[in-house]
Amino acid sequence: MGEPLIYEICRAGRCAVSLPECDVPETPLPEGCVREDLPLPEVAEVDLVRHYIRLSQMNYAIDTGFYPLGSCTMKYNPKVNEVAARIPGFATLHPLQPEASIQGAMGLMLELQEMLAEIGGFAGVTLQPAAGAHGELTGVLMMRKCLHDRGECERNVILVPDSAHGTNPATTSMSGLKVVEVPSDRRGNVDMAVLRSLIAQHGSRLVGLMLTNPNTLGLFDENVVEIIQLVHEAGGLVYGDGANFNAILGIVRPGDLGFDVMHYNLHKTFSTPHGGGGPGAGAVGVSATLVDYLPGPIVQRGEADGLLHWYMPPKSIGRVKAFYGNFSVLVRAYTYIRMHGAEGLRQVSENAVLNANYLQARLRGVYPIPHGDRTCMHEFVAQGILRDAPGIRTMDIAKRLMDYGFHPPTVYFPLIVPEALMIEPTETESKETLDAFADALIHIAEEARTDPDLLRSAPHHAPVKRLDEVKAAKDLILCYAPGCE
Ligand SMILES: *Cc1c(COP(=O)(O)O)cnc(C)c1O
Repeated sequence: MGEPLIYEICRAGRCAVSLPECDVPETPLPEGCVREDLPLPEVAEVDLVRHYIRLSQMNYAIDTGFYPLGSCTMKYNPKVNEVAARIPGFATLHPLQPEASIQGAMGLMLELQEMLAEIGGFAGVTLQPAAGAHGELTGVLMMRKCLHDRGECERNVILVPDSAHGTNPATTSMSGLKVVEVPSDRRGNVDMAVLRSLIAQHGSRLVGLMLTNPNTLGLFDENVVEIIQLVHEAGGLVYGDGANFNAILGIVRPGDLGFDVMHYNLHKTFSTPHGGGGPGAGAVGVSATLVDYLPGPIVQRGEADGLLHWYMPPKSIGRVKAFYGNFSVLVRAYTYIRMHGAEGLRQVSENAVLNANYLQARLRGVYPIPHGDRTCMHEFVAQGILRDAPGIRTMDIAKRLMDYGFHPPTVYFPLIVPEALMIEPTETESKETLDAFADALIHIAEEARTDPDLLRSAPHHAPVKRLDEVKAAKDLILCYAPGCE
């Protein structure tokens, strides 16, 4: 990389901050608190700033380029969200402040609960879960408790389609339940014949089904209403993985389709910066069946005093997170929804779907698209398989895209599509950007035939060359040591 690492420019005695004169008596730190042997870098302020700015410039972000990472909804994050989240009345609150002093923040939460309930078609919403996966766990625990309360404690099976995100089976297992996989049919829908036989087989042991709709193939399941009816008739409940909600805002309400519970990935659909581990927010909406099971505290308006209060639903599964969720993410999602309004949200989805279909159309005939005969929703799945370049794989194409200045799409997911390239352009990209991306992929397909090694050794212009992925996973270097590259 050529640039010095921060440990290499340190000089004893340099310091990046100037603290004011101490105006209280100095007190020694407790024994063992300071590790004298820890060689912390001593650098000037300007060196520190350059170090972090340099690192940030080696990174790729939605604010620097197109980021078509399928299923992740890497849309542009409007900067007004950040302005709202930094308003001191929101940013400087303490979670232990008394209710009377945080009525504004609680008001925002109440309105967000109500707006999400309206957008999703649900009876109630919790804002506590910190991510989609956390929302899934919350939802499945509510489903389980509801069935236990009906005295149906033998129910322990959840059906999960084979196109599902890995968090679905993981959540199910964490809840102590058994996962049974449901295959997809040739059109990319849940295989109805197999679903019927699995429901018959597990009958009174069924907790329910987890369904992502549109699914991770970017397809709206054509039998969704019937699927939900079948599960309900068997006494089960249906969980909706709402990660793909960006495709249907203002067009279909999952609650109206019959879903009993669904998580919203506020950081995906409602635009807060994500990737790199958070913070996110996975609000969960529920139908009337589950509304008393929501984790608390949630915000409610007191009938007697008209003030906002924290409320624990009567059969609540309890708390799923300390305090009240990732509040600053909630402020951003609230701002996003209010800035768009009902009309704007519908437009978001219409444009997200239009953009995905445009890209799908431009890539048809260049890369195989297993369900390319169907209209896709906000994303579609192609394959990194090229007829005249048998040695080239999806990973080579993804790495080569980086040389063209694009973040690669999601690769090797969903698992049911070999060499998957899952592309989600989102609504915030222009036709020019979509064309540039399609041109790059078309050009790469040509390069694969004429100069395959160019792809196999890519990326050539990234700060880090292609990693040995096995070594990177098995032989982690977590600490800086001089001379180690
Ligand atoms: C992102 C995603 C999840 C998990 O959401 P997190 O917020 O990352 O925990 C679940 N299912 C699908 C389909 C997703 O794309």
